[in-house]
Amino acid sequence: MSRRNLIKDGIKNIPEYVPGKTIDEIALSYGLDPDTIIKLGSNENPLGPSPEAVDALDRYKHLYQLSVYPSADSGELVEALSGYTGYPESNIVASGPGMDGLIDNLMRLVISQGDEVIIPTPTFSYYEIAARANGAVPVFVKRDNEFQIDSESVLKAETPRTKMIFICSPNNPSGDLIDEKKLRRIAESTKGLVFVDEAYVEFADRNMANLVDDYDNLIIGRTFSKAFGLAGMRIGYGIMPKWLKSEYMRISTPFNLSGPSITAGIAALSDTKHLKQSVELARKGRKYLKDNIPFNVYNSQANFVLVDVAPQKAKDVCERLLEEGIIVRDCTSFRDAGDSLIRVTVGTKDQNKRVVEAFKNQYPG
Ligand SMILES: *Cc1c(COP(=O)(O)O)cnc(C)c1O
Repeated sequence: MSRRNLIKDGIKNIPEYVPGKTIDEIALSYGLDPDTIIKLGSNENPLGPSPEAVDALDRYKHLYQLSVYPSADSGELVEALSGYTGYPESNIVASGPGMDGLIDNLMRLVISQGDEVIIPTPTFSYYEIAARANGAVPVFVKRDNEFQIDSESVLKAETPRTKMIFICSPNNPSGDLIDEKKLRRIAESTKGLVFVDEAYVEFADRNMANLVDDYDNLIIGRTFSKAFGLAGMRIGYGIMPKWLKSEYMRISTPFNLSGPSITAGIAALSDTKHLKQSVELARKGRKYLKDNIPFNVYNSQANFVLVDVAPQKAKDVCERLLEEGIIVRDCTSFRDAGDSLIRVTVGTKDQNKRVVEAFKNQYPG
């Protein structure tokens, strides 16, 4: 007898999350030497983690602390984040697993069955998954041809059941920032919360964190997975109004960051040298990729660029790049992205050169 009927309504509508491919998977399917494969599909830091974070983890291991619960609210990390962001601890939460954990907690906090969230597409797919998993109905508003958000269309999609609007800036996969005026217009007009996903903000020319002071419904989401090179540690954080943090802490799972994650996060924040190098590498590299890949490449404020290979199919081009041992992200699975977009993480200088050569080989004529 099937127990499928135990699964709550709405779960079957969740599209599967398609993660980037791993080096081992590709080595196996294409018969390649793993050492020759470059992974530019998941926006990870090509310089690896901060050496200071690695040292801190080594020391942690030797202290035999693994049998002890970490602090329930990751207080030491929140304190360090307060120093880093300039916001008081009462505005900051640390979250695990990653920023995804922050999003899931916020959904658990505000969503009742049948509530709505607004998602401008194409964008990061976890918003939809978290929303549906918590009983919400996602309402999609398409960005324009340049991936700009039209604030009026977003506001028009609002109903009395709208609880949250997701704004990704820089947007994954397009790399563009939201205009501050539009964001202010959305924040002051909606009756819901506005979640601004700044996963890539360290690579960008500006951030929107100061808007937290101006609106009592705006949350900034951040992560250690990209610029800090700690994707494996699963650390995220949020900057939010004080009243919302108090409510959030009621439902957040205690101990949601592990002791090693807290330790690595604090060390990474103090390693300004690694951060600076990582940001400079991404900024130089994205310009190089844009200037040299012979297809339409969108301007990016992140550590990746979006390449449009039309009239070719992204799927086919990605397949041929894989044969050469280059993993990039086919964006066909992103809702409303069409079938000709490829997201390429900025790598090291050598990796970027290989990527450019590979794209040149795919250029017709
Ligand atoms: C990578 C990414 C995240 C997820 O970050 P984690 O902290 O690793 O969960 C969130 N939002 C966007 C847009 C991302 O690209």
